[in-house]
Amino acid sequence: MKKPPSPVRALGLCSGGLDSILSALVLKRQGINVTWVSFETPFFSSEKAKAASEQTGIPLIVQNITPLYLSMLRNPNMGYGKNMNPCTDCHALMFQLAGEIMKKEGYHFLFSGEVAGQRPMSQRKSALRYVEKHSGMDGFIVRPLSARILPETMVEKEGLVDREQLLDLSGRSRKPQMALAGEWGVTDYPSPAGGCLLTDAGFSRRLRDLFDHEETIQESDLNLLKYGRHIRLSPQVKVIVGRNQAENKILEGLVDRTRQAIFSPSSFSGPRVILAGTLSDMAITKAAAICVGYSKVPPGEKGAVAAIAPGKTTLLSTFGTRPDELKPFIIC
Ligand code: SF4
Repeated sequence: MKKPPSPVRALGLCSGGLDSILSALVLKRQGINVTWVSFETPFFSSEKAKAASEQTGIPLIVQNITPLYLSMLRNPNMGYGKNMNPCTDCHALMFQLAGEIMKKEGYHFLFSGEVAGQRPMSQRKSALRYVEKHSGMDGFIVRPLSARILPETMVEKEGLVDREQLLDLSGRSRKPQMALAGEWGVTDYPSPAGGCLLTDAGFSRRLRDLFDHEETIQESDLNLLKYGRHIRLSPQVKVIVGRNQAENKILEGLVDRTRQAIFSPSSFSGPRVILAGTLSDMAITKAAAICVGYSKVPPGEKGAVAAIAPGKTTLLSTFGTRPDELKPFIIC
């Protein structure tokens, strides 16, 4: 066996959770120089990873991967989980991208805080193996928390990592991790649940609708899926209605004024409404009526709505379309 380089440098995927932190500490404790990478999309952020980096002093690289992620998400090889979460292919893509950074920046291997058998879809042993093969990083991926119950990797065989100092955790119990956290003085870490919108049923319904109706999707379209009530009026036309003042403000900031229209009540208090898709006169009239319908304008009375579409602003006076009339069209 040739002498390992000094220092050995490892790049880890970081979600910011306790498992990510412990996996890095397991390696650090044997003298390995660790750095994290956290990938961002509109579906998950790197906020928790940033907090973990701040807490531990482990450097963090942050990269937005939305376009690449989106093309995987349209058609993941291994399919989706309970909602639109393509966890196995998500991990494979992240390791593939981390592998590119590894090669470019001279890291010796990759690691993550995955624990064999902890999650039903992405952490079965067969899924871990799939990720190694499909990321193109076979042999270079170490899971420090479960390594001793997984096949020995090339990294261990070459002596870059001492397998004896890696762990043998498996399954869903969090007790061993919490005990280690106590022992190693890790006090501040987020709860394991949540964080990825692709596991949310309502968000997934809106995303499925977007995929079913749009060939080209911008990042702002994905961000819009997080707010408001989404109503599909026809294959070409979707309307988003703000549900409260905070959402109205956010919708005003997110609307793409080069290809979408936004409606605001001009003579009453009510929601902001975004019209996306084909901005025909008929669609504009319908969206204005929805804006009135979701306001406090009494039935049978007209409300005035300012419609700002690309290149033109109009003031429309219209009766409202009531929410119960829209029920069949509500996506979520
Ligand atoms: S929960 Fe979301 S971020 Fe995590 S692996 Fe699944 S798809 Fe990826």
